Amino acid sequence: MKIARSSSLFARARAVIPGGVNSPVRAFRSVGMEPLFIIRAQGSRIFDADGNEFIDYVGSWGPLILGHSHPRVVEAVQTAAQMGTSYGAPHEGEVELAEMICQAIPSIDMVRLVNSGTEAAMSAVRLARAFTRRDKIVKFAGCYHGHADSFLIQAGSGLLTGGVPTSPGVPEDLIANTIVCRYNDLDSVRTVFEQMGTEIAAVILEPMAGNMGLVLPDVEFLRGLRQLTASHGALLIFDEVITGFRVTYGGLQNLVEIEPDLTCLGKIIGGGLPVGAYGGRRDIMKMMAPEGPVYQAGTLSGNPLAVAAGIATLKVLKTGNIYDDMERKTSVLETRLRTVFEETGLRVTINRYGSMFSIFFTEEDVTDYESALTADTGMYARFFAGMLERGIYLPPSQFETCFVSAAHEDEDIERTAEAVRQVVEAMA
Ligand SMILES: *Cc1c(COP(=O)(O)O)cnc(C)c1O
Repeated sequence: MKIARSSSLFARARAVIPGGVNSPVRAFRSVGMEPLFIIRAQGSRIFDADGNEFIDYVGSWGPLILGHSHPRVVEAVQTAAQMGTSYGAPHEGEVELAEMICQAIPSIDMVRLVNSGTEAAMSAVRLARAFTRRDKIVKFAGCYHGHADSFLIQAGSGLLTGGVPTSPGVPEDLIANTIVCRYNDLDSVRTVFEQMGTEIAAVILEPMAGNMGLVLPDVEFLRGLRQLTASHGALLIFDEVITGFRVTYGGLQNLVEIEPDLTCLGKIIGGGLPVGAYGGRRDIMKMMAPEGPVYQAGTLSGNPLAVAAGIATLKVLKTGNIYDDMERKTSVLETRLRTVFEETGLRVTINRYGSMFSIFFTEEDVTDYESALTADTGMYARFFAGMLERGIYLPPSQFETCFVSAAHEDEDIERTAEAVRQVVEAMA
């Protein structure tokens, strides 16, 4: 595989951008390589600066459920751009996207558009704190909610002794207000509520976790959280930035029939342009300025190009039988992968739901962060490098989710399975 052009671009990048990237995981550090610079993407494929072509399972980390450069999305953005790139004033597209979101997700009566998932989660927590007049939040190890200070905290030595920051620069005062529990472990949350239930503003989680690799929820765990928060006057926030419009036309909450008080969205609702959103109960959302006192704003929020891409994406998703088709393709891939790993005797754990999957290099079931961490990241790095060499672009980290898109064809799936066979045989 040629990498000369990517290497020289990366050298230029590192001189002017910290680490050469604008988001850390792109740097390929956890697989011990240098990143490829992409020049073009179409359907299931991405093409790099050296002329290499890959079947892409990253999909811009989730947004590109229709594949790259979907004609309807491209056309919507082009048309919108000719009408002006930003107004700083209301326009109809914002209303249309908000209506589509409210119709698709029953727990959302009102929604506010922002520019990223980070902003959505940060604003939802501010709103929850204002609504409950409490300061503490509960989150779960291995869940990601963007990079706002309150979320850059991991579990400390004990559940109730407070966490430790995952980044310098997070104020001490904030650390005490974030409590980190164990995913799929309702008892850990019950203990916290027994101790400090009257101080907790909200419990926030990915209702299906995609940021420690894919970890499926125990539905009883989700039901228990709904009940615990309600009985203690705390809000339940589902961060569906990945799962929103990925698992169905709506959120994971539609499938498990649990209504959170607030929901965070992003990724797919922007169709590959920068969009986030948070919404929920009318009485809570009405606290946002200018209707209420809680401040949150954005120069480019509801941007006409981004909103047009989002609307076009949701319209395509709503009409086809895209979810069934992605389920079928990904299930074929899963079956093929299981066969390959069984035949070579390499023990892995594959988690999958719909078009999302992760291959963990561990023999243990992966149900939370602790079990995810039993995965052998060195093995994943070898696997990743072998797949890349054979034209398959996987997430450059063991703890991320692979995404199949509507644009992946049966032949892509076959080629991927064959590449896995070759790589795994060479590894075993
Ligand atoms: C990606 C992601 C975010 C952050 O979104 P950005 O647009 O990257 O700021 C938040 N929550 C979840 C669950 C995500 O996957």
